[in-house]
Amino acid sequence: MKSDNFRDLVPYVPGMQPGFKDMIKLNTNESPYPPSPKVIEASASFNAADLRLYPSVDVGPLRDALAEYHGFDRSCVFVGVGSDDVLATIFQACFNSGRPLLFPEITYSFYEVWARLYNINTRKIPLKSDFTIDADDYIGVENGGIVIANPNAPTAIAMEKGEIVRIIENNPDSVVVIDEAYVDFGGETVLDCVNKYDNLIVVRTYSKSRSLAGARIGYCIARPELISVIETVRNSINSYTNNRPAIEMGVASIRDEEYFRAMIKKVIDTRERLTKELRELGFNVLPSSANFVFAEPPAGITAKEVYDGLAEKHIYVRHFKIPGIDNYLRITVGTDEQVDIMLNEVREMLKSIHKMWH
Ligand SMILES: *Cc1c(COP(=O)(O)O)cnc(C)c1O
Repeated sequence: MKSDNFRDLVPYVPGMQPGFKDMIKLNTNESPYPPSPKVIEASASFNAADLRLYPSVDVGPLRDALAEYHGFDRSCVFVGVGSDDVLATIFQACFNSGRPLLFPEITYSFYEVWARLYNINTRKIPLKSDFTIDADDYIGVENGGIVIANPNAPTAIAMEKGEIVRIIENNPDSVVVIDEAYVDFGGETVLDCVNKYDNLIVVRTYSKSRSLAGARIGYCIARPELISVIETVRNSINSYTNNRPAIEMGVASIRDEEYFRAMIKKVIDTRERLTKELRELGFNVLPSSANFVFAEPPAGITAKEVYDGLAEKHIYVRHFKIPGIDNYLRITVGTDEQVDIMLNEVREMLKSIHKMWH
């Protein structure tokens, strides 16, 4: 067969999901804690016989629960199979002009993948030398849309709300997507700006702060006119997206605010300790507002060497072979115990280098 029948794509490469029983998995920003007991209950009481029926066509009960939770009308909410699904649908629906889509050069690498898949022109904007995003770089530049993760990944650095608002206000003719996958761990949401700006879409996920990566639930909030454009694309591909058990678990999670807040607090406390201890070991740790830290090892050892040393012990962190950040590690905040085991291994590695030098 001729090869021009097929697409030639560079896919997103997700973090490994190795199957070792003893592994410590700090590589994909999942929560180390289980979802709310209410979610476990909802899944146990789910009647599998109902699976013969399609789920509700617009993710009804979950859409309603999210609308109520965030104080919006249901017409402002779109739910998808993880925020990746939501973002991919937004890319198809909203970046159709031919003008370049702007996003930071170092950010969630899926943006680039979708842009290529859907033939969207892009212009990648370098970060400042301290890895922050400069709002001015997104103002007065011709564009057909803007995507910014806040806090950004993999840097974990949050942008000030006022700066994001400046970007939204100064680009009234294009859609501005703020990917708030990590906002529950720090940084300020712009959800309250949705009613004011008809070009803003705020994207959220259950995968990180709600401990439900495996249930695949994401959503976005925007003005109804934008939501209906996104829905039209979804209904041109697959109208039944989230499955019945996921919808019930998603609603149950929203109903347990207390547990949600408690788990976030645990992660933030551990993050602060992890940051402090890595710094004491000589790492350069960027200020994190997320459930992971981005850290550069001290002189004498490279990020790749630390990565390999940890992987040998079945401790997985993330290393990107991307120029500019290839000497950094992205380490997901685990439980206190997991973090301690990881830190001890790093300490041992640093000790043995020290010995070699003296
Ligand atoms: C994890 C992540 C997502 C996707 O998460 P889903 O599991 O598909 O909801 C989207 N954006 C960023 C920045 C992420 O880190």
